[in-house]
Amino acid sequence: MSAPTPMMAQYIEIKAANPDSLLFYRMGDFYELFFGDAEIASRALGITLTKRGKHMEQDIPMCGVPVHAADDYLQRLIGLGHRVAVCEQVEDPAEAKKRGSKSVVKRDVVRLVTPGTITEERLLDAGQASVLAALARVRGSDGDDYAIAAIDISTGAFHLTSTNASRLSADLARIAPRELIMADTVFEDGDMRSVFEMLDCAIQPQPASMFDSVRAAENLQRFYGVKTLDGFGQFNRAELAAANGAIAYIEKTQIGERPALMRPSREQADRLVYIDAATRTNLELTQTLSGHRDGSLLKAMDRTVSGLGARLLAERLTGPLTDADQIGKRLDEVSFFLGQDRLRDDVRSVLKGLADMPRALSRLALNRGGPRDLAAIRIGLEGAQMCADLFKTLNDPLPENTARDVALLQDKPLELSDLLTCALAEDLPLLARDGGFVCDGYDADLDEQRGLSRESRKVIAGLQSAYAEETGVKSLKIRHNNVLGFFIEVTALNAEPLQADLQRFRHRQTMANAMRFTTDELAELESKIANAAGRALQIELGHFTTMQKAVLDHASPLQAIAAALARLDVAAAMAELAEEQGYARPTVDASLEFSITAGRHPVVEQALRKQAANPFVANDCAIGGNEGCIWLLTGPNMGGKSTFLRQNALIAIMAQMGSFVPAGAAHIGVVDRLFSRVGAADDLARGRSTFMVEMVETAAILNQAGERSLVILDEIGRGTATFDGLSIAWAAIEHLHAVNKSRTLFATHYHELTALSAKLERLSNVTLSVKEWDGDVVFLHEIIEGSADRSYGIQVARLAGLPDAVISRARAVLDQLESQNRERGTDTLIDDLPLFSATPQAPAQSSKASQIEEKLSSLHIDDMTPRDAMEALYALKQML
Ligand code: ADP
Repeated sequence: MSAPTPMMAQYIEIKAANPDSLLFYRMGDFYELFFGDAEIASRALGITLTKRGKHMEQDIPMCGVPVHAADDYLQRLIGLGHRVAVCEQVEDPAEAKKRGSKSVVKRDVVRLVTPGTITEERLLDAGQASVLAALARVRGSDGDDYAIAAIDISTGAFHLTSTNASRLSADLARIAPRELIMADTVFEDGDMRSVFEMLDCAIQPQPASMFDSVRAAENLQRFYGVKTLDGFGQFNRAELAAANGAIAYIEKTQIGERPALMRPSREQADRLVYIDAATRTNLELTQTLSGHRDGSLLKAMDRTVSGLGARLLAERLTGPLTDADQIGKRLDEVSFFLGQDRLRDDVRSVLKGLADMPRALSRLALNRGGPRDLAAIRIGLEGAQMCADLFKTLNDPLPENTARDVALLQDKPLELSDLLTCALAEDLPLLARDGGFVCDGYDADLDEQRGLSRESRKVIAGLQSAYAEETGVKSLKIRHNNVLGFFIEVTALNAEPLQADLQRFRHRQTMANAMRFTTDELAELESKIANAAGRALQIELGHFTTMQKAVLDHASPLQAIAAALARLDVAAAMAELAEEQGYARPTVDASLEFSITAGRHPVVEQALRKQAANPFVANDCAIGGNEGCIWLLTGPNMGGKSTFLRQNALIAIMAQMGSFVPAGAAHIGVVDRLFSRVGAADDLARGRSTFMVEMVETAAILNQAGERSLVILDEIGRGTATFDGLSIAWAAIEHLHAVNKSRTLFATHYHELTALSAKLERLSNVTLSVKEWDGDVVFLHEIIEGSADRSYGIQVARLAGLPDAVISRARAVLDQLESQNRERGTDTLIDDLPLFSATPQAPAQSSKASQIEEKLSSLHIDDMTPRDAMEALYALKQML
């Protein structure tokens, strides 16, 4: 068998070191893929699969993508969940030749491209963070501790969140990483499966050693170039392990390049509203259930004008605050901008023109930046100054947050700003090696080299007329291409005078209609120009490195300025939204209030307006108090129950993220946890029926909701037989009323439940008003006290276009069922059931025997004094 060629041997060696990535192997102007990689990529990208040479007597499958278009192909492969190892030539081919004719150019993987570690503008979504999350688990004194390190390598943001098994899923859903890594031991743990299955991202188990909490401090110190982590704050073991894993993964994928990461900031878990993954999805916060951004709350709220601002808005929306003071401060900013139309417009128009500073910074840090990234920093700094100046003319005092941000903007690194302003040209190439980005007049040496090549061009123009004169060929031209360099071109018919003097005019090429010649003078000029251009480029590249270093030296103040710009964008955008949509400033405090006057659904309202349909009907909601109230909402299908439920949850989220809300007025005592159970789709892919999903979600609510929670329940029990469903809904309401005491909205089809209002003092029945008219039904979408006596299902079916025959048959069946029902009288159901059965302290048991059993099992014998024990015995005896 023949040995592999030297190139193939090199390929095989590099591929063996990167078995789980597709290897992009650089050959000239192409990245080539071989063997299995070629088969996968050709299928995924729809490019031709060919062959190149043989390996072990077999054809080698191959496909290739041109380097200049590689970003597009990368994007598609990453989108499909692949990882790509980019392998470049790492020496000049001339060096390889020196070693011998057979030797191959040295190549090495310079970068692993994974979903969570990309930085290219074109591969990123301007308004969306691109987060790599590392999950660590360590054994704590009681149970496991978890922490998540979330890094956005494209902006340098780095957050650490401590969490636990029950919160983990919700925290990951909030962070919404593009890629999640964890120790393989954690990945393989069966208990974690449900957590990972929830996530819509690439999951990459890593060697457990990467999550070592003991070596973490040392590694972090090395990464940040500090002697101690004391200045970073205190971290627990799980946080250290997570941070270590994230940094190790970034080093593994970026290979020798160090991203400009900010210092890790700790997220206090209770600082943010707890919103579990299902609630997040159901409320369509950042995308709709069908996965679109249009129709989400984020899309309806977003009036930001910069990528930075859009990302911050998304971050705030996914993590509303629980601290009333902080919320108040954010609201102050919105109020301020609302009263400053001119300033708001001016600030927004400055922000609109800014490039994405943090992302440019991060590309520069990873040596992937170009002159346009330097310009992004320059423009960012200019913008920051312009923005700060806009505030100078104001007489009114600024709100605290705004004042802080304006001060940050003024704190710009002057020397950096001057350097970039003086050195960078107007029109910039994408890559530094294209040259031409340093402006004339900045560097005398550079100017001289440029002058030389400009000068030479003049000489060439002179030569052209001299040759024309000399040969008498008026149409003689001096041209240039990359193969020949400069040459003289004449038409074939005019070639004679030149051919007559072949000593002077050396023949280079014969074309169909033209002949090309060169001369000594031309060749000399050619090399002069090439030298000058080469020297000019060297000088420019030197300046690039200097500017790049200057930018990186100021990474922290630049990041702080970018963050301030982002906050101003968000505050101004929220004011814009509030004005445009007529929103009101909510009162958010430490009470347990929940009272919304004339509330609207932010997304439905805008959609109705767009369709020029009837305007949205505003509704009140009052479920606050010392112990939360329950509103039991019955009403016809299509009446607006789900809309009402969701709108109140969304108003709470908007208020606590620091936004004005779609309502006449709103008073909300801080909500610390938000639960919803609203129409989940089947989750058959994971083998769970609608009913199972519903019960799992309901269980989570009944087990976790408390008096500060807001609970939204829609149609629980619907996925099973009527009496099963009714009983579950019934018991759930009792439990919510007696145990959870949360502020609750409960929509249901079971009219029987409305009877509960007679026994549960904090439960009120509300319904959606309907006008019946000539057998038809008109939905007024207005919440009124009371309960619906009918579902109007048949009317809705008619509106939906069921055949008339089916409608009239359904009417007849319904009449019959209703009359049977009246005879049997299920209305008495309420009186047959014992109340407050949800109270765990007083469980309802039917037989004496089981009551005694219950009592016995509730005794904590180890905690009892002999006297308690005696009393308990007497009590038991009495129960006989
Ligand atoms: P239900 O949950 O009672 O079946 P939905 O909440 O799905 O009803 O609402 C049905 C439709 O009615 C929605 O598509 C919406 O366009 C409209 N709607 C709901 N509430 C209102 C309202 N307050 N004002 C105007 N239209 C509304």
